[in-house]
Amino acid sequence: MLQLFNTLIRKTEEFVPLKKGRAGLYTCGPTVYNYAHIGNLRAYVFEDVLKRVLLYDKYKVKHVMNITDVGHLTDDGDAGEDKMEKGARREGKTAWEIAKFYENAFKNDLKNLNILPADKYPRATEHIKNQIALIKKLEAKGFTYRTSDGVYFDTSKLSDYGKLALLGKQELMAGARVEMGEKKHATDFALWKLSASQGGHPELVSGSPKRQMEWPSPWGIGFPGWHIECSAMSVKYLGQPFDIHCGGVDHIPVHHTNEIAQSEAAGGKPLANYWLHGEFLITGTEKMAKSENNFLTLAKLKEKGISPLAYRYFLLQTHYRKQLNFSWEALSAAQKGLEHLYDLIPVSNSHPELVSGSPLAQRFQEAINNDLDTPAALALVWDALRAKTISKKQLLDFDKVLGLGLNKVKKEKIKIPAEVQKLIKERETARTAKNWAESDRLRREIEAAGFTVEDTPDGQKVRK
Ligand code: AMP
Ligand code: ZN
Repeated sequence: MLQLFNTLIRKTEEFVPLKKGRAGLYTCGPTVYNYAHIGNLRAYVFEDVLKRVLLYDKYKVKHVMNITDVGHLTDDGDAGEDKMEKGARREGKTAWEIAKFYENAFKNDLKNLNILPADKYPRATEHIKNQIALIKKLEAKGFTYRTSDGVYFDTSKLSDYGKLALLGKQELMAGARVEMGEKKHATDFALWKLSASQGGHPELVSGSPKRQMEWPSPWGIGFPGWHIECSAMSVKYLGQPFDIHCGGVDHIPVHHTNEIAQSEAAGGKPLANYWLHGEFLITGTEKMAKSENNFLTLAKLKEKGISPLAYRYFLLQTHYRKQLNFSWEALSAAQKGLEHLYDLIPVSNSHPELVSGSPLAQRFQEAINNDLDTPAALALVWDALRAKTISKKQLLDFDKVLGLGLNKVKKEKIKIPAEVQKLIKERETARTAKNWAESDRLRREIEAAGFTVEDTPDGQKVRK
């Protein structure tokens, strides 16, 4: 029975899907104007674990992740510059080139982290019609108002606005560091922004005020607000309501709160039943903002000898709802830890453990179903490896959830010279006869020949 912590009710509850045996999953994707930093990647690893647990529990998962390639402004509100246009200016390329390049880079990161690909990656720029249709629906229902620079959602029209954040409207307003402009309430947000040529704000701080990405609409030429894409695309591909919606904790007070407001106002029913949020990777002195240029990427970790899978292993050691401190020492320890784990992968399936139904398999499943308790699941794996009570088959089965690439590890077959093989045989005889002194003497001889020998329940294990 899968238990998940639902931000909507601030409680852990049983996951009950809308359709038996199926799970619809929407995860907010990247804004593709720069590389993903390792903080961003923590969110995608957490979501991947969730998806792998659903699959392990035999759900048929439909996973949609959007690609934000327009409309996300630099202030994460309504008054900044479009991050895509800013990225284009920074690199002297078109916004379209920037989007394509960083979307590919992002998908490459996912692959390196062994993150299962989504079934669909809808792009905001390819769903402008759907977003306009949704805004028109909200307009017809009286949830919007016009300003000289666009169309806004009137949050005062919803009595339960802000319920996801469990904050009153006043608190949300106090927290919203926004430029009011012509907005009626601080929490109101843009659904459609007009281009400068149509009377909107000049979007560029410097350079040409002409946007590269703009479209005609009933309200004038412009572009969609950031939140509307997720409302339009999640419902298009998963229906309303759908099962699970995810993102980082920073999405709770604004982005997800506004997605809920728009979708529930338009559809008259909940957007999603379960809202899961991953905590932040905290970096102390290392600045971790995509808008700055000195953030850490997977490539930078690789330069320092930390593989993407070691980073994934590092993340799995902490529960997704706990903040995680970044440090190079912790990452090096994770790299060593993962290598050691690879080292301990059993070479055979000779163990009596069954893959399903064994006490170990049950405990593993309980851990992951307990709100994705990966630290507990890893601890079980380590205990079993050390006690040598796990078969290769079982370990690889667990790795369907952990995703540490254990199936790709190649165990080199070591060549044991005939004279060492003879010593091993003699030692076996000595051990059967409980002649420990002779056994120890033979161990020293084997070691002198450049091999180590370990006594396991499967017999002697020899390594170079
Ligand atoms: P963005 O590309 O900025 O829209 O962010 C992509 C994802 O990364 C979102 O789900 C954010 O909530 C998440 N995120 C951003 N910074 C961090 C961080 N330091 N730690 C964990 N997740 C983060
Ligand atoms: Zn979103």
